[in-house]
Amino acid sequence: MNQRVIVVANRLPIRRSEDGTWAPSPGGLVTALTPILQRGGTWIGWAGVGSGPPERFRFNDIDHVAVSVSDAEIDDYYLGFCNGTLWPLFHDGIRAPEYHRRWWNAYQRVNHRYAEAVLEHSRPGDLIWIHDYHLLLLPQILRELAPETEIRFFLHIPFPPVELYARLPWRRQLLDGILAADVVGFQTESSTANFRKAASTFAGVEAADHLLRDGGRLIRTQTAPISVDFGTYDAIANSPDTDDRISRIKRELGNPEHILLGADRLDYTKGIDVRLRAYGTLLRQNPDLADRIKLVQIVVPSRQTIGDYSDMRQEIEQLAGRINSVHGGRHRMPVHYTYESLDREELVAYYRAADVMVVTPLVDGMNLVAKEYVASRVDDDGVLLLSEFAGAAHELTEAVRVNPYDVDGVARAMRHAFDMDPAERKRRMQEMRQTVRENDLEAWTRRTLDPSLSPVAV
Ligand code: UDP
Repeated sequence: MNQRVIVVANRLPIRRSEDGTWAPSPGGLVTALTPILQRGGTWIGWAGVGSGPPERFRFNDIDHVAVSVSDAEIDDYYLGFCNGTLWPLFHDGIRAPEYHRRWWNAYQRVNHRYAEAVLEHSRPGDLIWIHDYHLLLLPQILRELAPETEIRFFLHIPFPPVELYARLPWRRQLLDGILAADVVGFQTESSTANFRKAASTFAGVEAADHLLRDGGRLIRTQTAPISVDFGTYDAIANSPDTDDRISRIKRELGNPEHILLGADRLDYTKGIDVRLRAYGTLLRQNPDLADRIKLVQIVVPSRQTIGDYSDMRQEIEQLAGRINSVHGGRHRMPVHYTYESLDREELVAYYRAADVMVVTPLVDGMNLVAKEYVASRVDDDGVLLLSEFAGAAHELTEAVRVNPYDVDGVARAMRHAFDMDPAERKRRMQEMRQTVRENDLEAWTRRTLDPSLSPVAV
């Protein structure tokens, strides 16, 4: 596409390195969008905690615009409204969302600030591409200030069922915010359907086919599951450096016969506790396994100042400790737990070292880890154990599916994965690799930015 793209997201795709300089964040979205933005696009977002970079700067041949968010706004807008109200509500309400006027006011204020940055740093004809739940009001604010702007919006987390969404005191305002976009994208068909139902119930729009009619305007809804950069994972997994890392990892783990892996950001949506309980059940029912297998659980620090998150960390660490004390011994630890973020090369080596990848979210917009595991299995081996409530479950149908609320069922699935014969493992992995290869991140970017999607005016 020739149009200039302005990406607007909560965060800029950069982070501060140990030496104090700025470095690109290794996220897949950044990799996918870099060639598009290098042709003249801009990325607008918050630079993260600490003293920020200059307001506008060029990095990696892309213009970056830093939006400033004060410490008080981090509390009320980011930790508060985004992660204390919207995150739990949109994730099935598995934790009680809190509703505070102060958080809502900060959310409106920060969305306005992003709008000012977009207006200042874009020009007529640009495509404004807004990402995720932090910026639900932004399409409308922009539409009011610059009516002709072409706006696309993509929600990376699930859109909840209308019965849950109905609880939100500001349900109408947020729908009006999103509905000012021309194209609104979601990860799964059910999120798309939930949004369409909420829009017709609470915002009075008419729904027909993939369109919504709001007075004289048409809005297109699209289901476009995000993916991973298959080629990059495939290449890293194939490199000799990865072979060395795999040998080292296995050696450090004591060369267990069988490795199960969990790798998640610390979050109550991820079902890390369920996985540990299921693993404990597996060992109780099969005491001979304790000598032969190891569960590696990597937990990436996240939102540590929110009480729910620090409580959860404690609970997870206690569960891991209990399994090790009950089923372990002086030289034997059935759970290897770490609280850290691995870089991509190291993570890929873990993916390749793991006989079974255990992904058990109670609810998850997509879960890229599941797709990254598949993309990294260049040997066509390994079993993916996947929650049916992860967005990725819709595409990765050859995974061993589990209901993460059923601890005994997850334990049985772990045993099934352990016992699966090599030909079956290979067939399933080959099919999943084909799916992810064909629907990789580049395909997603093409679909979501497809110029023919913009609805024609009525
Ligand atoms: N990740 C990482 N280091 C780790 C573990 C995970 O960089 O030690 C990355 C992983 O590669 C993936 C992302 O974190 O791209 C997690 O994305 P996902 O969609 O699974 O969950 P989210 O954290 O977005 O809810």
